[in-house]
Amino acid sequence: MTIMPLEKTPLHAAGGRIAELADQCVQCGLCLPVCPTYALDANEAESPRGRIAIASALARGLADPTADLRRHIDHCLGCLNCEKVCPAHVRYDELLVETRTLLGPAPERPRRLLWLIGQPALMRALRRLGGWAGLARWKDRLASALPAASPWRAALLTLPRQRPAAPLTRTAHGSDAPHLALFPGCVASVDDAQAQQAAVTLLRATGLRVTVLPAFCCGALDLHGGEAAAAARSARRVREAWVASGASQLLSVTPGCLGTLRRALPEAEVIDPVELLASRGDTLRFRPLAQRVALHLPCSQRNVAGTAQALQSLLQRIPGLELLPLTPPPHCCGAAGSHLLEFPERAAQLRDATLRQAASLAPQQLLSSNIGCRLHLASGMAPLGLAWPQRHPLTLLAEQLEHE
Ligand code: SF4
Ligand code: SF4
Repeated sequence: MTIMPLEKTPLHAAGGRIAELADQCVQCGLCLPVCPTYALDANEAESPRGRIAIASALARGLADPTADLRRHIDHCLGCLNCEKVCPAHVRYDELLVETRTLLGPAPERPRRLLWLIGQPALMRALRRLGGWAGLARWKDRLASALPAASPWRAALLTLPRQRPAAPLTRTAHGSDAPHLALFPGCVASVDDAQAQQAAVTLLRATGLRVTVLPAFCCGALDLHGGEAAAAARSARRVREAWVASGASQLLSVTPGCLGTLRRALPEAEVIDPVELLASRGDTLRFRPLAQRVALHLPCSQRNVAGTAQALQSLLQRIPGLELLPLTPPPHCCGAAGSHLLEFPERAAQLRDATLRQAASLAPQQLLSSNIGCRLHLASGMAPLGLAWPQRHPLTLLAEQLEHE
């Protein structure tokens, strides 16, 4: 009898780049103490070094993509704390995106829910309908009837009670000064319209002209979920909107979108407005506010936007403000794009640790630049007996702005 060899999934055929990136790792382990998932599980496979070894084995065809192995890759928050401290400059972000692309989307990925979240016009309409039907009153009861690991349960718990602010008008604001385009995104265009309006107000006050682009998803959720074709479609849409705007720089008030926007537009300057405000904001004057304010610095603000310091300097210009930044790594709030929906129980552990840390500072309000982080943190407050207002730092800055 002739035994035919089993055909192995040719994962390794597309894995050359992953192997090349993984080979940069010298396995020193300096990234382990800053990794939130390693802190959670104390398991090498849940560490950057472990994930790099898994990615390398998958890419070379030395391991099969079993459910267990891919779960370790899927658990990664993409916080990039590891990349920040790596002495060998391993490009972990690229390695993670390539590995997830190679594996493709996880079978249990909540694709319908993620598609819905990426449709801002539909989400606005549904929120309006939900408002009429008293959704804010019964959404938590409905969520509690669903299993703890259900993405829909996590989505209902994270849904804000208040109605979204009106969307920004898409006309250019300001004179013929240097021209910027603001990318509103999907969730942020619905639930962070106030912060986007604040960015426009502050930028105009420094003499800049801002055009608001159409609202759609930058593709981050697809890119980090292994949905390469959908991410490429979003990148094309970003490019078309950017080119049509004729602006010189692209801005996002959501640091979590910046990495994906930069990937879509490698030749463009894609920045956090905080960077511009910090460099041009000498003319801005703020009214005093005597408050203790906790500042959550999202991983994407520290590790991608690189504006954590600039943001703190800006906020410190509000007289009387007592700014209390939460300590950096290994804390991550656990929101991490779609992680809060895909792994709600793990996300809740990280969120509650972040909230307890904030509570120890006894703040009167909580600031965070990422709408995903803020919604996730807000959803955990009531069970811990916490009730601070939470908002984007730019919203606070615009409220305190002294107008001439
Ligand atoms: S710090 Fe860099 S080189 Fe060291 S184990 Fe982590 S990824 Fe590898
Ligand atoms: S990106 Fe964050 S969660 Fe993922 S391995 Fe690096 S430090 Fe850990």
